[in-house]
Amino acid sequence: MKVYYEDDADLNLLKDKTVAIIGYGSQGHAHAQNLRDSGIKVVVGQRPGGANYELAKEHGFEPVSAAEAAAAADLIMVLLPDQVQAEVYKNDIKPHLKPGNVLAFGHGFNVHFEQIVPDADIDVILAAPKGPGHLVRRTYTEGGAVPAIIAVDQDASGKAFDIALAYAKGIGATRSGVLETTFREETETDLFGEQAVLCGGLSELIKAGFETLVEAGYRPEIAYFECLHECKLIIDLIYEGGLAKMRDSISDTAEYGDLTRGPRVINEESRKEMKKILKEIQQGEFAKEFMVENQSGKAHFSAMRRINREHQIEEVGTELRKMMSWLKK
Ligand code: NDP
Ligand code: MG
Ligand code: MG
Repeated sequence: MKVYYEDDADLNLLKDKTVAIIGYGSQGHAHAQNLRDSGIKVVVGQRPGGANYELAKEHGFEPVSAAEAAAAADLIMVLLPDQVQAEVYKNDIKPHLKPGNVLAFGHGFNVHFEQIVPDADIDVILAAPKGPGHLVRRTYTEGGAVPAIIAVDQDASGKAFDIALAYAKGIGATRSGVLETTFREETETDLFGEQAVLCGGLSELIKAGFETLVEAGYRPEIAYFECLHECKLIIDLIYEGGLAKMRDSISDTAEYGDLTRGPRVINEESRKEMKKILKEIQQGEFAKEFMVENQSGKAHFSAMRRINREHQIEEVGTELRKMMSWLKK
């Protein structure tokens, strides 16, 4: 796969343009500040009344409404929660789009699932750093960067890819490397990753292990350390050097148990379910379910959140983490 670096990207493509960053949240604050430090003219669209509005002011921006920001800009980067993007687009962005403008996203969800269908005379691009916003900002200030992926959904100008690459350079990403993807690939793999592995899979694995030990009569505090707390040590090793580095570092006892027992926990049945989850994503069933849940008042979503917050593992964890003076409150 080709990797794009500093010399492949031309920041001049953005030099005479104004970039609107809509949403000053996790991603928004990082994109806006990095672009500004790269010499790009940035206007922030952030609704007043909350901490993010104050933060944007603290960082030296003069936040305006999404509509004002969209009207003032040539490139509009939408960094709002996925479930509100279509509404904000319809009311505040679309009315201000002019032919030749560029509409950009940090995640392909709304474009891929056609919740947002931009006019044909607009470039539609994706530029997504592969990391949380605070890291995107911190690495940039340290001279590095979080790698990013870019994609083009609509190329009205004939320059959409180069503009996406220039944007990636503006947020610093070409210092580390930029990969090309498609809206479909980014959206579907992102949803699958968070559902099956990173968030859904991992949370249930932790809970199932904890519950198995507690139900067998072991103390919840000890179960918490074994099944949740130690995840970080293992993940850090995997992140640094793959599964191989983790296996080099653990005892032979742990490695033998890992190789023989792991495939019994994540077995044929789990793999079959993963394929089903992927199908639901590909066929738009998940997107529809999520949109309907949001439009109908989130009753189910809120109840699931509450039930999970009340799980014994959270109560035990709250107490145990008081022993960990190095953790942020
Ligand atoms: P956040 O939740 O951190 O920020 C959301 C922003 O949108 C805030 O500024 C918030 O303002 C504003 N907002 C929320 N609701 C509304 C509304 N109804 N009307 C107007 N503004 C609103 O989002 P993220 O930065 O996490 O995500 C933004 C995009 O980036 C998403 O598409 C996401 O998929 C993508 N992304 C996120 C990554 C991450 O690490 N978080 C990584 C890569 C991509 P307020 O403070 O007033 O609520
Ligand atoms: Mg995601
Ligand atoms: Mg051990």
